[in-house]
Amino acid sequence: MQQFDQPDISVVIPLYNEEESIPALHQSLTAALESYGHPYEIIIVDDGSRDRSYELLADLAQRDSRLSVIRLRRNFGQTAAFAAGFDHARGDVVITMDADLQNDPADIPKLMAQIDAGFDIVSGWRKDRQDRLLDRRLPSVLANRLISNVTDVRLHDYGCSLKAYRGDILKEVRLYGELHRFMPALAAQIGGRVTEVPVNHRARQFGSSKYGIGRTVRVVLDLITVWFLGSYSTRPLHVFGGVGLAFFGLGLLTGLYLTFVKIAEGQDIGGRPLLLLAALLIMVGVQLVTMGLIAEMIIRTYHESQKKPIYVVREVLPAHSP
Ligand code: UDP
Ligand code: MG
Repeated sequence: MQQFDQPDISVVIPLYNEEESIPALHQSLTAALESYGHPYEIIIVDDGSRDRSYELLADLAQRDSRLSVIRLRRNFGQTAAFAAGFDHARGDVVITMDADLQNDPADIPKLMAQIDAGFDIVSGWRKDRQDRLLDRRLPSVLANRLISNVTDVRLHDYGCSLKAYRGDILKEVRLYGELHRFMPALAAQIGGRVTEVPVNHRARQFGSSKYGIGRTVRVVLDLITVWFLGSYSTRPLHVFGGVGLAFFGLGLLTGLYLTFVKIAEGQDIGGRPLLLLAALLIMVGVQLVTMGLIAEMIIRTYHESQKKPIYVVREVLPAHSP
């Protein structure tokens, strides 16, 4: 019966091999949401677990009508699991968190208070983070500084899964690769209002982390994607063409100088490294401009094939009836 009510809050949790955490997760989450008092649903996305996670979840789902379980066919990764959960979420607000009990469901009202204050995204900040210093916290501090500077969305903790999103903003953002941690930046790029609140963090009790230090490199690469898409996705020629023209110009000047040396001064230029440089600059310059033009064509296909406008509307007045 509950099941058909429209929930206010959808809690989306990606889960991969976390069998020991499941009972405590369900219990603490239910307790927190019950005491908050708004209609809710819990969506746990089983990201191809190989342990008994799915059996435990299926059993819980039978007893709790507010719990839905989405089982992916294989392990697609945390971002894909989030995306699956978002696609199924019906709430006006979507809250995400980890399944490993590191986030505290008791923080949910704190996030909701900021949503009620008018923010589109509220990001948790693990102020007192309980993870190892050298391979987790230190790279994270550096990564957060870098991401904040590049995207201009200043957060202390992009990596915290505990976040709240207004549902309509989620519909506008498509996730790829491992981009879920950049959601605040991606949402800000389409005009979402972002804030952060300090939240509790606990050490992992069961199982082990699914990530190692290698994630840092991928985060830096993803940052390039986010920066490029955010600043230049509707005008790629401006980034490729700018560098291309500069290279081409430099190459041309160098070439002219060499021509002058050859003709006016009669010197041999065949063995000069500068000649190689001039040729290289001109060629790379032309290629970059061409690449920019091709990117311009791709971006038109991208937008026009999906009828995806290059703007995002917040609201239109007067509101028309449905
Ligand atoms: N997770 C997932 N699919 C994966 C890897 C992780 O659904 O391929 C889930 C995992 O079960 C957990 C969350 O994503 O609920 C965060 O993973 P983890 O705790 O290993 O990351 P950390 O907290 O160490 O950054
Ligand atoms: Mg964790």
